Amino acid sequence: MAAKVGIPRTLFYYVYFPMVETFLKELGAEPVVSSKTSRKILDDGVREALADACVPVKIFFGHVQDVKDKIDFLFVPRVVCLNGRTIYCPKFLGLPDMIKHTFDQLPEVIDTRIDVRDDRFAVWKAFYMLGKKFTNSTAKIFFSYNKAKRVLKLYHKLLKEGLSPEAAMNKLKSKDYNIKPNHQSLLKFAVLGYPYIVHDKYISVNLLDKLNKLGVETITLEQVPLNIIKNTKTDIPKDMFWTFSDMVLKAAYHFFNRGTVDGIIHLTAFGCGPDSMVDKYMELKSKNHPHIPFMSVTIDEHSGEAGMYTRLEAFVDMVKRKKEAVNNA
Ligand code: SF4
Repeated sequence: MAAKVGIPRTLFYYVYFPMVETFLKELGAEPVVSSKTSRKILDDGVREALADACVPVKIFFGHVQDVKDKIDFLFVPRVVCLNGRTIYCPKFLGLPDMIKHTFDQLPEVIDTRIDVRDDRFAVWKAFYMLGKKFTNSTAKIFFSYNKAKRVLKLYHKLLKEGLSPEAAMNKLKSKDYNIKPNHQSLLKFAVLGYPYIVHDKYISVNLLDKLNKLGVETITLEQVPLNIIKNTKTDIPKDMFWTFSDMVLKAAYHFFNRGTVDGIIHLTAFGCGPDSMVDKYMELKSKNHPHIPFMSVTIDEHSGEAGMYTRLEAFVDMVKRKKEAVNNA
């Protein structure tokens, strides 16, 4: 029987899951993904995690609770640095320890450390360590790793073309890579935030779909090319230390500077330390670009659909009227 490897459907799931899935399947292991985020997963996470953890980390605990009794291994790598420049948020780095010290009945946790600053082959070595659990053949691991990298590249290409992670994963499964062009909307918003907040329909209260229903085309972080993010300068003398925070802030600066969107929404999570800086810098930057309306939306354990929808409607209405006034002037 194939060994079952548990993957929590949050955090890195939205960025790297197709790679991990391909790799495991090539080696005959079975990836088991936790259920979609729900009230129960959120409540379980709130109960198990430290009270002062951010909402996404609490949700991670809920996903572990959901999957832990169905698997032989739990994959929670300690991903420190993948670009040689910035590191992941300290709460990401502490995840394997927090999980191991919280749950009593856990399968073996695979918590390989990945830091390309120490070793440029760190990603390959991490996958090699993972692959060794299922085969002794280095050639097979190497072949599976290369195939997984190719799938990841394709996945990121689909995200860049505007597909959501869920839609892109479905495309990979169906092997139908045609993408229907979006119909032109009157308004275009950049919706910026960490992938595990923006693309989790439960905790984002389905914000992207709601905006689409209000006639707004949305652009997310995944659609901003990495070279643009890398080369965008902000008002702070150094890059932000944390990878996703650095990307979100630079994407915001890019849109404010280029003026290619009608509005910018920052979707942030209650209890997020890095976002207390990112959000403030975005707000300060927005004051220099009053023609691009900016709104910050914080999600927490109690975010309600009705309140969020009212705020979105009011924001969209205001931007629409502003744009019409400029066009008629
Ligand atoms: S960046 Fe913020 S939301 Fe993400 S894990 Fe760290 S503290 Fe939580």
